[in-house]
Amino acid sequence: MALIVHKYGGTSMGSTDRIKNVAKRVAKWHDAGYQIVVVPSAMSGETNRIIGLAKEIMADPDPRELDMIASTGEQVSVGLLAIALQALGKKAVSYAGWQVPIKTDSSYTKARIASIDDAKVNADLAEGKIVIITGFQGVDELGNITTLGRGGSDTSAVAIAAALKAQECLIYTDVDGVYTTDPRVVSDARKLNTVTFEEMLEMASLGSKVLQIRSVEFAGNYRMPTRVLSSLTDPLMPLAEEIVSGTLISFEEDTNMEQATITGIAFNRDEAKLTVFGVPDKPGIAFQILGPIADANIEVDMIIQNQSVDGKTDFTFTVPRGDYNKAMDVLNASVKEHIGAGNIIGDSKVSKVSVVGVGMRSHVGIASQMFRTLSDEGINIQMISTSEIKISVLIDEKYMELAVRALHKAFELEAA
Ligand code: ADP
Ligand code: ASP
Ligand code: MG
Repeated sequence: MALIVHKYGGTSMGSTDRIKNVAKRVAKWHDAGYQIVVVPSAMSGETNRIIGLAKEIMADPDPRELDMIASTGEQVSVGLLAIALQALGKKAVSYAGWQVPIKTDSSYTKARIASIDDAKVNADLAEGKIVIITGFQGVDELGNITTLGRGGSDTSAVAIAAALKAQECLIYTDVDGVYTTDPRVVSDARKLNTVTFEEMLEMASLGSKVLQIRSVEFAGNYRMPTRVLSSLTDPLMPLAEEIVSGTLISFEEDTNMEQATITGIAFNRDEAKLTVFGVPDKPGIAFQILGPIADANIEVDMIIQNQSVDGKTDFTFTVPRGDYNKAMDVLNASVKEHIGAGNIIGDSKVSKVSVVGVGMRSHVGIASQMFRTLSDEGINIQMISTSEIKISVLIDEKYMELAVRALHKAFELEAA
């Protein structure tokens, strides 16, 4: 019997009525003969609320305790969904991550999944039960509860689908698929029927939060067919229609090649930039600056080193805005101690906008069109980075939405 994994996000689980609708949809799939594992998120707003409680007590709480708190939202969701399914006459059982277990490393608040035990789940499925497993959380070797980073239920779902060798992983959310850009920013964004795995990976890593990046990595590593679709449609809509709705992440490299040069526009509002002036231009400097940043578990994204003048250069890099203060402290300490550079300045109000598309490989002039569009809008580009299928620019955060709309139009991505 084919196994399908369903994942429902926060909005989809946002009230008991919504949970009852999820139960109706899941029951419909089960009635059609599928084995079903469901991976829900916490009810919308809940994870923010409970993390907020911890931060009311202390600005920078112990990550282990934060995970203990943050993981509870999903535990409520799985129990409620099991009850809603039982109310429909279905056999259903819920599990927290540690009960499966979903084993992770011990990087609290951003743990990585190491293994998923399929024995208990398979036994339940064989008994005709619908199995409901908390998204977002796992357990480390010592039995501590961990979480997988914000938006991590997507990753739980795809990883569980891979571990159980599911036929497909369906990510139900509050939009009906992956769009050319966030439909909440550009109202005439167009829904994509398919998006290549590579493009989805870029879009997720560049800020499109519709899928957490690690879920896309799992989908790619295990070639797990993954589809993004709406949970807000009629839960009893015909299965044949639902199965082909939404956006399929495709592993066919060339599906979009002939259609468009640019597939989508991604953005990340929450970037921050740090510059160290007057750095001695000699071997090992980049490592001396970025080594301590990496040791502090801060991810560095864009990097620029200027041409040196009189043996000195300026070194600029970006980090997630949430890590800005920590990065500044680390930099101040390490630069003072070892590097002997001049001033350090920072800007925590910058955003990154990126155009993405596999079609870029076979088309020239994308960068110049992007830069012309931004120049026409009077938007200054602070940093640029490129890969084979994306061009990213760092700009002042106050122009971010303007840039996204202008680029969406310039690359003719709007719905017909
Ligand atoms: P969930 O709670 O279901 O995990 P998220 O809020 O994490 O939902 O992700 C869905 C949201 O992602 C959408 O509501 C939309 O605003 C946003 N989004 C960003 N970029 C895109 C995109 N390219 N296509 C669709 N949605 C996008
Ligand atoms: N509840 C978690 C969060 O808000 C995980 C998720 O929704 O995917 O980040
Ligand atoms: Mg999400």
